[in-house]
Amino acid sequence: MSTEVETKTAAPARVIENYVDGRWVTSRSERSLDVLDPATLDVLAQVPLSTPAELDDAVAAARAAFPGWRDTPVIERARILFSLRERLTADADELARLVTLEMGKTRADARAEVGRMIEMVECAAAAPTTMQGRILENVSHEVDAETIRQPVGVCAAIVPFNFPAMVPFWFLPFAIVCGNTFILKPSEQVPLTQNRAYEILHELGLPAGVVNLVNGDAEVVNAILDSPGIDAVSFVGSARVARHVYERAGATGKRVQALGGAKNHMVVMPDAVVDKTVSGIISSAFGAAGQRCMAGSVVVTVGDARERLLEPLASATRELRVGNGADPDVAVGPVISCEARDRIGGWIDRAASDGATVLVDGRDPGRSDGAYVGPTILTDVTPEMPVVGEEVFGPVLAIVHVDTLDEAIDVVNRSRYGNGTSIFTESGAAVRRYRHEVEAGMIGVNIGVAAPVAFFPFSGWKDSFLGDLHAHGPDAVDFYTRKKTVTSRWFTQEGGTKLFGEH
Ligand code: NAD
Repeated sequence: MSTEVETKTAAPARVIENYVDGRWVTSRSERSLDVLDPATLDVLAQVPLSTPAELDDAVAAARAAFPGWRDTPVIERARILFSLRERLTADADELARLVTLEMGKTRADARAEVGRMIEMVECAAAAPTTMQGRILENVSHEVDAETIRQPVGVCAAIVPFNFPAMVPFWFLPFAIVCGNTFILKPSEQVPLTQNRAYEILHELGLPAGVVNLVNGDAEVVNAILDSPGIDAVSFVGSARVARHVYERAGATGKRVQALGGAKNHMVVMPDAVVDKTVSGIISSAFGAAGQRCMAGSVVVTVGDARERLLEPLASATRELRVGNGADPDVAVGPVISCEARDRIGGWIDRAASDGATVLVDGRDPGRSDGAYVGPTILTDVTPEMPVVGEEVFGPVLAIVHVDTLDEAIDVVNRSRYGNGTSIFTESGAAVRRYRHEVEAGMIGVNIGVAAPVAFFPFSGWKDSFLGDLHAHGPDAVDFYTRKKTVTSRWFTQEGGTKLFGEH
């Protein structure tokens, strides 16, 4: 969490550095932000808002490193990831501590995030197999065709605040193992976790320029999008910025994948197993204080499900303890900033004035020492209300009621977003219909947060994703390689295919 200050003269405890060409460098920028602990509002550090010229330095280093890294045998690149995996595993507690400190999520949630970060490295390390091309003999008489994969070049990633450890690693290990060089622009709200990750990368003996870290805000993002020295851009963040990135990077001919915001629905059928459904909904809606792009923020009850679900869901929600994520008894940590807290409170006010009932009200969770919003449940919500259509990105769950599965599918499909959705039921037929007809890229069946594991793609649809190839899984190898197809025919001086020594 950050508040802008004009210059660096406020002298905080620690100034974050950039990592360029194998070295830690102090930014030359006059602009910086305080990084705050959202649980206490303490200043943790100061992050520079780097200049376009500093981005150019990183691009030059990454370009210079590219030919040598591209030609490094793939198994040697993979071995670097084996070492990275060991180092991250040894450092997992410290990384999780930093995630909680700067982002606010509970320690258990942060540990799970770091587990996913490490899983990305494990998956990427399979490149000697996954990068293989294809060959077919005799596509014509004595003619063979083969497709080989080569790295794209210099690749950049621009990432959001809500997964400081995992989301950057949706990209970094896959990019470098495929032979690309890489520039990361972390979220200026949470720069500490990646700073630590890069300290670990620094110790691995990678050639200078293979991985680079440039801190900053929109100014450096736009420099990335415009840079002729960058070949591919991955973005994760809000829908508005995802569109900006997709269009501006596309205009300079880059390969782009842009993952945007979300509004995820959880459909509860009348036959759903209530206790398991309640715990699935609670962890989806209120885990990470509702700040996951896969957070379920709308429950659609079908028929009798409303009667069966509402009371157990409301009473379990009232029991959730709000507080500092570092406290093991806390279930819901702070949101990222006081601005976010106020924005989320404004959404609850607005829903109430639109006619919703605030069944569980988190607007005053009894803590003013940090950026706290308690878990909130809204009932008497209609699909037309803005709180159903727009992303709130906080611990606010809206409950919409319909009579049939058809109507539920219609509510889901009316959304401009299509990231994830879940159905809770015992009926295989309902699941079959649902997964076939809903317009979303990730489906949970009796699972509240259906975020795919590293070896499957993170496959949002509609305004939740702009591009073609998704993050991680097999898509990552496709995104980070270019295909080259060779068609060959061989002759001998004597004609035909006679070889040396043959008569
Ligand atoms: P954000 O869009 O504000 O910021 C994301 C990145 O873009 C940051 O690095 C930021 O510096 C940069 N940025 C912000 N404004 C910019 C601008 N005007 N021009 C250029 N760059 C800009 O997002 P956030 O608040 O950090 O993260 C929360 C959002 O991310 C939510 O909408 C959430 O749904 C989304 N998200 C999506 C996924 C997914 O997989 N689809 C995953 C995680 C988060």
